[in-house]
Amino acid sequence: MSQIITNKAQLVKALNPYRKKGLSIGFVPTMGALHEGHASLMSQAKRETDLTVLSIFVNPRQFNDLLDFEKYPRTLSEDIARAEGERVDIVYLPQYEELFGEDSPASRVNLNGLDEPMEGAFRPGHFRGVIEVVHSLFNHVKPQIAYFGQKDFQQLAVIRAMVSALDLPVFIVSCPTHRETDGLAMSSRNLRLTKRQRQAASGIYKALSIIRDAWQKEPTQDLIHRATEMVRQSHLILEYLVVVNPNTLAPIEPTDDTAVVCIAAYCGEVRLIDNMLLSAD
Ligand code: AMP
Repeated sequence: MSQIITNKAQLVKALNPYRKKGLSIGFVPTMGALHEGHASLMSQAKRETDLTVLSIFVNPRQFNDLLDFEKYPRTLSEDIARAEGERVDIVYLPQYEELFGEDSPASRVNLNGLDEPMEGAFRPGHFRGVIEVVHSLFNHVKPQIAYFGQKDFQQLAVIRAMVSALDLPVFIVSCPTHRETDGLAMSSRNLRLTKRQRQAASGIYKALSIIRDAWQKEPTQDLIHRATEMVRQSHLILEYLVVVNPNTLAPIEPTDDTAVVCIAAYCGEVRLIDNMLLSAD
């Protein structure tokens, strides 16, 4: 059975004996509505560390749209069952007041502009909310290793920048994106799609695949044009579709040997994001 913990003091008390024995703590922060993508993070943490802590917290500070926050799926009892299925040791359900009580150094940390393009441009304040909550959760859990999905590519870059700027003693692991059989990246928000929207949503994967499959065989602008057309034909509303340097998130230069294509599009009122790494082979 997973131990369910709802406050910091209880968490510290539960973790202390493991810390004293020098055992490693693996941490998987989530917003719940858990799916197989989240499960892959939990199972990797389980394999690589002695004790796995999963947190579930729908963080209001990272939502720039109140309706999106209110409609975010919440499935706590199923989530706990899934965590137990993955043999997670501790499920942490933190309290807002304990996470955001004090002035956080994360709110001032220099992210080298990684928080500015893409999600940062379309969701003002989103990444400040993300890094504040992740910083605070790291402070509560004090993990040796924390696991994040490549699905949220820019989030990973921003969290790595925060860890490096504040010199936090935690190793960040990037885990591959889990997809449905038609390629749609698993996401808690997929639960909000109607059957028709769910079918349309696979246009995101098709658009990314157009770019991945012909990368460096055709001019980038032509590929973006074809992929944009795929998004339009799928009845999705494109917010951005950009090819950027995976380290700087700046538009790619001719000398770059790797790239990542990132997309955000609306399927009805549900906003979905995805990305794919590009290499020339
Ligand atoms: P979320 O609950 O959406 O905040 O996600 C919690 C963690 O799970 C983040 O590190 C996400 O990047 C990761 N994640 C979400 N979807 C997937 C997926 N389809 N495959 C792998 N990891 C994912």
